[in-house]
Amino acid sequence: RAKARGRQRVEVHDPRTDDGAADRLRLLGELRRGIPDGQLRLHHQPQVRVHDGRISGVEALVRWQHPVRGLLPPSEFIDLAEQSGLVRELGAWVLDAAVEQAARWARDPECATVEVAVNLSTRQLTDPGLVDAVTGALARHRLAAHLLVLEVTETALAVDPDAAAATLATLKDLGVGVSVDDFGTGYASLTYLQRFPVDELKIDRSFVTGLGVNASDTAIVQACVQLARAVGVRTVAEGVETEEQRRLLAEMGCDVVQGYLFSRPVEAAAFQEWARAR
Ligand code: C2E
Ligand code: MG
Ligand code: MG
Ligand code: MG
Repeated sequence: RAKARGRQRVEVHDPRTDDGAADRLRLLGELRRGIPDGQLRLHHQPQVRVHDGRISGVEALVRWQHPVRGLLPPSEFIDLAEQSGLVRELGAWVLDAAVEQAARWARDPECATVEVAVNLSTRQLTDPGLVDAVTGALARHRLAAHLLVLEVTETALAVDPDAAAATLATLKDLGVGVSVDDFGTGYASLTYLQRFPVDELKIDRSFVTGLGVNASDTAIVQACVQLARAVGVRTVAEGVETEEQRRLLAEMGCDVVQGYLFSRPVEAAAFQEWARAR
């Protein structure tokens, strides 16, 4: 079956019969119908506290179970959704599904303290309805606000910094955690940590990969951790794949690690099994 699907996939992308724009337009139409059809899925990747190895939370990562192409990663459809505005519907689905899952875990003694992190698109952060959407989801599923973390990118913060700062302040008052994702890859400067009320900084995988191998990557990670600590912001390193990277991060004082060394993003049931086995 995998082979048949593979062949079909090649047909869909055949450059002789299909130009990229038409292909993208078709995919967009399929996504527009696929969201209400229930084709989106959430996978969860554990985040582990450095000092005691315990699970602090998970990051919820969206996938699309396409009826023909199989399970698609966000790189195949997020940009398309963002450009077209469909990311509003996608983001609303992700927020609701992630909060629902977090509430289920909150009632399970083995997972009761697991925080769930949700990625926000630029359009969601700049949407005046965001705070209502968040409070609505929390109320609907009766989740304590401190178990939800919202990940925003530097690029999204830069669109309208004053409005973003006000939105983040409101979220913080609610008790929701705010994290700056892919830190170091955008336009953010160190002043961001002062200007925006954030709780967490996620050091981008591109720097973590170079840890201990590339001197400037190592220095950047060290500087991010020290700066965050100095202003009382917690640090999460993403893309941790080796024990050596984990060890260096621990030495530097990084708080939380996330990456294939611990687990790939998996379905909720598989995460629970993984958590139980630990
Ligand atoms: P991100 O938020 O920076 O998420 C981390 C990505 O790194 C995930 O890819 C994850 O699977 C991958 N990753 C984690 N650990 C490792 C590792 O050790 N090695 C390697 N090579 N990769 C690792 P994924 O799930 O494909 O997501 C890619 C991006 O798509 C995310 O980057 C995020 O920007 C976006 N995204 C995912 N879900 C959503 C969503 O619900 N809404 C929005 N707006 N964007 C999303
Ligand atoms: Mg993220
Ligand atoms: Mg990230
Ligand atoms: Mg990243």
